[in-house]
Amino acid sequence: MPKKLMQTRGVHLCTSRLDHCPAPLTEFTDDELMMKETVAKLAKEEIAPHVKKMEKEGKIDDYVLKTLFENGLMGLEIPTDYGGAGCNFMSTILTVEEVAKVDGAIAALVDIHNTLVNSLIIKVASEDQKQTYLPKLAQNYAGSFCLTEPGAGSDAFSLKTVAKKDGSDYIINGTKMWISNSDIAGVFLVFANANPSAGYRGITTFFVDRDTPGLSVAKPEDKLGIKASGTCMIHFDNVRVPEKNILGEFGQGYKYAAGFLNEGRVGIGAQMIGIAQGCLDATIPYTLERKQFGHDVFSFQSMQHQIAQVATELECARLLVYNAARLVDAKKDVMKEAAMAKLVASETALRVTAKCIDFMGGVGFTTEFPQEKYFRDSKIGTIYEGTSNMQLSTIAKCIRKQYS
Ligand SMILES: Cc1cc2nc3c(=O)[nH]c(=O)nc-3n(C[C@H](O)[C@H](O)[C@H](O)COP(=O)(O)OP(=O)(O)OC[C@H]3O[C@@H](n4cnc5c(N)ncnc54)[C@H](O)[C@@H]3O)c2cc1C
Repeated sequence: MPKKLMQTRGVHLCTSRLDHCPAPLTEFTDDELMMKETVAKLAKEEIAPHVKKMEKEGKIDDYVLKTLFENGLMGLEIPTDYGGAGCNFMSTILTVEEVAKVDGAIAALVDIHNTLVNSLIIKVASEDQKQTYLPKLAQNYAGSFCLTEPGAGSDAFSLKTVAKKDGSDYIINGTKMWISNSDIAGVFLVFANANPSAGYRGITTFFVDRDTPGLSVAKPEDKLGIKASGTCMIHFDNVRVPEKNILGEFGQGYKYAAGFLNEGRVGIGAQMIGIAQGCLDATIPYTLERKQFGHDVFSFQSMQHQIAQVATELECARLLVYNAARLVDAKKDVMKEAAMAKLVASETALRVTAKCIDFMGGVGFTTEFPQEKYFRDSKIGTIYEGTSNMQLSTIAKCIRKQYS
């Protein structure tokens, strides 16, 4: 609309809001497209055959883990100088989406490892820390992001884990809960309060290696979904780490957690749209084959409308996720867009997968078919990296700021 016309209607064109318009939404670069296609093939050929077994055993198959490392999926944005693939954030998002089409649990591993752990180290760590950890995270072991505690979930910055200075070391005591990848992680990024008198401004992030004395990982939780993704409680009992293990600056842990969880939420959005699309892809062919009343069940108009509805909702969610990913690559603030993307993608994935079970009829309710697993795997999206309530609160906070 011409600026003049907008002004005559009393509308003021706020150019700063236009800063959030990214490049065309669905256009990918050649590199992104190649990544998407390569990962889709890898997921189908190398991950899919192991999904049932991993689900049953509640752990990631060694071969699958090795394959992820060998094909660069554990070091997506790590610069090539440190042994990574040197991709952009959009490629990470496409990777998580393609993996989630096949298995939500492996997508959780790939997503959290890349968008929280690697990302924080790439952007905040010292050169020495990068040299020490990035090559291993790209090629050898997974990493965990340890923020949540038994008493500090949505209110994460009320955490009670402390890091007390002792000479040139810190001694960490406390308990972390619901920590993804912790069954297999080689390093833990631990958020602990190193100056409790300063409140959340004392929260500091530490590298803690798995073999550090005093660190113990409990057995994985038995969960509703993403069963192969190990989620454990971790105890820190006088865990001594040198001062050089502080990641970034002392007292900045709360900023790192808040900032990087924004990017992480776009990753969870990608996991959710992948799960929903994988489920839909496994469902539509069945509706075209299954005959009732002399016709395939897809041919009933009420079925078609419901299928069209969920496909449209899924496309909306995907566009929010891709838009937020483009903004991350453009180094824009994505607090609102990431919260919107995660909220819509996770709520949509729940609806799409539940509807797919309906479209299948009775067989959709059995473990013979994959729909019930997609449905169970989608539930985590409304909980981790901030519940749907917390996303709504974040969105409202951003809107208030925008208009104040
Ligand atoms: C499988 C899994 C993997 C996880 N992985 C990790 C990980 O790798 N690292 C990590 O640090 N954490 C991880 N988490 C923790 C996760 O981020 C938290 O579970 C989540 O933030 C919610 O915290 P909570 O479980 O304590 O719920 P609570 O905070 O106790 O929330 C309970 C209910 O109260 C609502 N609520 C709370 N406060 C408010 C409010 N102010 N306004 C409105 N509603 C509110 C919530 O929306 C929710 O419905 C994981 C959790 C799970 C289940």
